[in-house]
Amino acid sequence: MPIYEYACASCGKVFEELILRARDEAEVTCPGCGRREVTRQMSRPAATASSGSGGGGPGRGCGPVG
Ligand SMILES: [Zn+2]
Repeated sequence: MPIYEYACASCGKVFEELILRARDEAEVTCPGCGRREVTRQMSRPAATASSGSGGGGPGRGCGPVG
């Protein structure tokens, strides 16, 4: 999903907004103060999986093919 992260320049609130159309981006308002002084942050993976148990070893399968 085209979800972008925005940061309000007025109150500093960071929120995510679902942008389906380009016009939606122009109407993004801060849910905190309602201003449009928002800045789009760098896109980040939307994976918000909580820290699960179980350790992960070092990368594997990175050896020479043959
Ligand atoms: Zn705000």
